[in-house]
Amino acid sequence: MNRTKIFNNENKKLYNDFPSFFKKLFSQRVQKLSINSGFTCPNRDGTKSLNACSYCNNLSFRPFYCEPKKTITEQINEGIKFFSKKYPSKKYLAYFQSFTNTYADINILKEKYEEAISHKSIIGLVIGTRPDCVEDEILNYLSDLAKKKFISIEYGVESTKNETLKFINRCHTFEESKETIMRTYEKKNIYIGAHLILGLPNENEIDILNHAKEISKLPINFLKLHQLQIIKGTKIENQFMNNPEIFIKFSLESYINFVIKFLEILNPNIIIERFVSQSPRNLLISPLWGLKNFEIIDKIEKKLKEKNTWQGKFF
Ligand code: SF4
Repeated sequence: MNRTKIFNNENKKLYNDFPSFFKKLFSQRVQKLSINSGFTCPNRDGTKSLNACSYCNNLSFRPFYCEPKKTITEQINEGIKFFSKKYPSKKYLAYFQSFTNTYADINILKEKYEEAISHKSIIGLVIGTRPDCVEDEILNYLSDLAKKKFISIEYGVESTKNETLKFINRCHTFEESKETIMRTYEKKNIYIGAHLILGLPNENEIDILNHAKEISKLPINFLKLHQLQIIKGTKIENQFMNNPEIFIKFSLESYINFVIKFLEILNPNIIIERFVSQSPRNLLISPLWGLKNFEIIDKIEKKLKEKNTWQGKFF
């Protein structure tokens, strides 16, 4: 499958939106199904750290059917059963989401990916991983697979500022993110996603807007933006309680206004996959905005119109 950059303004959106891109590519609604393949992460198993990233609690983004003791096929079948009630999608992407999904022996990785891709309803893979865990061997394999199927690697970049990456214990640098993204791009065919958290400790608005400038220089297709969420049981919870002054506390209104500033300087070719994330209420300490993702997206779209502005206006 060719990796194309689609500058999308046919649907009159003021930003390059993900659903329109998918509709154009597949001519139908496609749903991502989260998979927990039982991998771990070098930031948890002691290879890089035993302490994890300071904000990480994988329970906060794991749907109920994702349990590593179930096979990939079982998880896919249960996911389809769940989503087909909500959205009548016929096609699905297997989303290897939990932990680091390129962190295992290549034969184990191939076995898991191939189990997913051989399911009749799965038309591609989305693989979430860290930028320091992707060898050429796996990129060559995925690039080959991507000639026939949709393959996307989603990199946890999180910040472009190395002091922040150190502070949150990511145990990799922004230079490593850039190098891996370029290496992925050079292998051809693979779609590339990046993930950024807005509001990490010690970052001010200028730092965060600089992420938009830096990420715009990279050959990524998709960008996921998440507000920093303080999740129970994480290291950042203590920092948030003991040193609240190191955090920007976005109200919903100020976050929406800030996202618009971010969009204005972002490369208009980058497709925005997410503006916000939503962890289960029982795990979330802050922010408690009380709205669903789609309601926040609707507010962002209205605000763009009201301000007569758009993604890339000042790119
Ligand atoms: S956020 Fe990702 S890289 Fe960091 S500890 Fe959690 S699973 Fe590992």
